[in-house]
Amino acid sequence: PASPDDAPASQASSGHHRRAMRTQVMVLSFYLVDALFMAAYAAHGSLPALAPVFYGAAGCGLTVLSAGIVRMGLHRRMGGAHFTTVQLLTACSLMLVTAALVPQIGMLLLLTMMVAVATAALQLPLRHVLAVSGLVAALSLALLLVNGSRFGMPLDDGWSRLLSGLWFAVVLGKIAAINLIGVAMRKALSASNAKLALALTQVRELSERDELTGLKNRRSILALLAEERARFARGGPAFGLALLDIDHFKRVNDRFGHAVGDDVLRVFAKIVTGSLRGTDHFARYGGEEFLLLLPNTPDAAAAVLAAERLRCAVHDHPWTDLAADLEVTCSIGVTVSHAGEGVAEMLERADTSLYRAKSKGRNVVCAA
Ligand code: GH3
Ligand code: MG
Ligand code: MG
Repeated sequence: PASPDDAPASQASSGHHRRAMRTQVMVLSFYLVDALFMAAYAAHGSLPALAPVFYGAAGCGLTVLSAGIVRMGLHRRMGGAHFTTVQLLTACSLMLVTAALVPQIGMLLLLTMMVAVATAALQLPLRHVLAVSGLVAALSLALLLVNGSRFGMPLDDGWSRLLSGLWFAVVLGKIAAINLIGVAMRKALSASNAKLALALTQVRELSERDELTGLKNRRSILALLAEERARFARGGPAFGLALLDIDHFKRVNDRFGHAVGDDVLRVFAKIVTGSLRGTDHFARYGGEEFLLLLPNTPDAAAAVLAAERLRCAVHDHPWTDLAADLEVTCSIGVTVSHAGEGVAEMLERADTSLYRAKSKGRNVVCAA
């Protein structure tokens, strides 16, 4: 039985199988229509009766063989392009042999062969198309040279002219039918492109997020920070930075267990996210340290105000809902952008402020 992981692959393969079978049905109907025209010529007396029988039987036989190969999945083992090329070559061979046997409809068979090449060309690499076309052109030339004026299409009387004209119309109709294959292929391609784009979005999302808290991770906040600094260097507004560190978090883990520690990190992330402005960026910087980027923050006083709000929100949260006696606070070091400095210097300053907040007794905000 297929595991769930196999589902997309087997779905894609069943879609491919259906398309391959549909192509076989179309090829078969093409052969039968040609045989029907030959039968009409034969009924009129301009072709031997054996011609439609030979062509129809050979066409059916070849298509049934191909459908069998598709059904057993052998065409994929052969490589799809090789299978299609072999099928094209056998179709062209049948038409060339028929043209050699009944050159009076040779011109119509050459037109029909063009349709076969065009159908296959949709799914073949250029070098296969060129090789088959070259071969077909050489053999057709040989046929023309050998048969001379006997080669052509029946135009002797009204009925023959009507049939020949109709056969040509059918060739045009087949070209329209080929379009169906092209449409199916384009559809399959755009479906797989959409799937790929979705997967890419998911991968990108994963690579930018912290798994535990769902916040941005260190990598993506550092990228945002670099962008903000570049904007500031080009004359954009000053921005603030706050480094938040949960106080005595090791004790939380030790007393309540790692699982509660994880819950504290998640809830902490929610509390802070809920108290931010829409333009602020908050990320897990590592362990129990978080980084807050405050765009458009003119001075340290404004940054401290925002940080104070967060500190109070964390302090006031009913942590005992998570575990009896649990108390959680955080210390925050803030700073604002200075002209001419890099991201590293700014982070260093925020870290120094955080260190001061810790040494002042924790649960405080310090500014550089
Ligand atoms: P301070 O107030 O000075 O910040 O003390 P602290 O105990 O918070 O700081 P310290 O750096 O000594 O300890 C941080 C702890 O955070 C140690 C580590 O086991 C824990 N920690 C880091 N990441 C995770 C995590 O994802 N889940 C849990 N449960 N604990 C974590
Ligand atoms: Mg800590
Ligand atoms: Mg720490």
